Amino acid sequence: METTMIEKNPSQAAMELEDCYGAHNYHPIPVVLSKGEGVYVWDVEGKKYYDFLSAYSAVNQGHCHPKIVAAMEAQMKTLALTSRAFYTDTLGEYEKYAAEYFGFDKVLPMNTGAEAVETALKLARKWGYKKKGIPDEQAKIIICENNFHGRTITIISASNDPDARNDFGPYTPGFVSIPYNDIDALAAALKDENVCAFLVEPIQGEAGVFVPDDGYLPKAQELCKSANVLFIADEVQTGIARTGRLLACDHENVKPDVLILGKAISGGMYPVSAVLANDDIMLCIKPGEHGSTYGGNPVACKVAIAALEVVKEESLAEKAEYLGKILRDELSNIESDRIKLVRGKGLLNAIVIKEEENKTAWDMCLAMKDKGLLAKPTHGDIIRFAPPLVITEEQLQECIGIIRETILSFD
Ligand code: PMP
Repeated sequence: METTMIEKNPSQAAMELEDCYGAHNYHPIPVVLSKGEGVYVWDVEGKKYYDFLSAYSAVNQGHCHPKIVAAMEAQMKTLALTSRAFYTDTLGEYEKYAAEYFGFDKVLPMNTGAEAVETALKLARKWGYKKKGIPDEQAKIIICENNFHGRTITIISASNDPDARNDFGPYTPGFVSIPYNDIDALAAALKDENVCAFLVEPIQGEAGVFVPDDGYLPKAQELCKSANVLFIADEVQTGIARTGRLLACDHENVKPDVLILGKAISGGMYPVSAVLANDDIMLCIKPGEHGSTYGGNPVACKVAIAALEVVKEESLAEKAEYLGKILRDELSNIESDRIKLVRGKGLLNAIVIKEEENKTAWDMCLAMKDKGLLAKPTHGDIIRFAPPLVITEEQLQECIGIIRETILSFD
């Protein structure tokens, strides 16, 4: 039978469906993914790509890691959710495992990164009132310019990104903003006795993989300690082996008072996040003062244990450290005026692009997509390169070839 209808290809159809029925709160690269394994993802037409975003560093262990899948499958067939109204046989096991793994007394389980950040902010305020003796309603938290900690009203109140903030006010008060990587600004802000905490990303991920100077984090921690202020590290993106150590803070032997984790703590399998702290801080929160129906559910617990085991069993931190050096060396060797800067740590890296004749980082990402590598620009002129940490050296070399060829084609 003859038909006059032109069949849409599956990608086009899927994109139109999202566009029609979904809120327009993202601007994705036009590729429709339907399968993932290790470092690879496939689109609905069957084309294979290297994933160089790893779901913003959630998929450090690689897509659909068999060990994590097995742990999840087994637990979801056994017991998935009880809420925290009851004890389970999985939560304590996970909390002990995670507390010992990261070296803290206690864990507070949540689901998303933003929720864990909110939890840390509440914990810090509570500690400020109960332990530091800050007068009621006066607690302040120091945050850094160009931070990214999530999307809730309180978190965007701590942001200076107009897209994140504009028309979402009124904002939560109690934040003091200082420039990132500026120790004098921190010292000055810490003079206020009502400050309870300093919240910082050890590397600013969303800002474009901005790595602070060596010595910044230890000095900041020391200043916080002498001012009796909590040093809170948001390692949602930098943590779990991404930067070549278990935590980015480990590069400089900094132990935060409060550690925020998310993303790769579940290997991208499930929304799992956590706040870790020692008893003197964590026990400031009492029953009924904070929680989440799904936080610490049995599936999350088993998935997180498996995901953290994979990090050690497969030496992912060591791999990220070794391969990251190769990646940055090779990117720095590309002879192109288009590359202004290469920066990063471990396998969290970025190039800053010189934009010309309306050819932007976005165009470059589209060209890389056509050659089989998926990356996403951040802030217009920056492209982040963060493959799953299970990538082999040979695969990485192939990817470097794709990146080099693409960039040179823009000269
Ligand atoms: N903190 C940091 C440092 C992040 O990079 C992100 C996400 N990019 C978040 C918090 C928020 O995590 P989520 O999207 O899971 O809420």
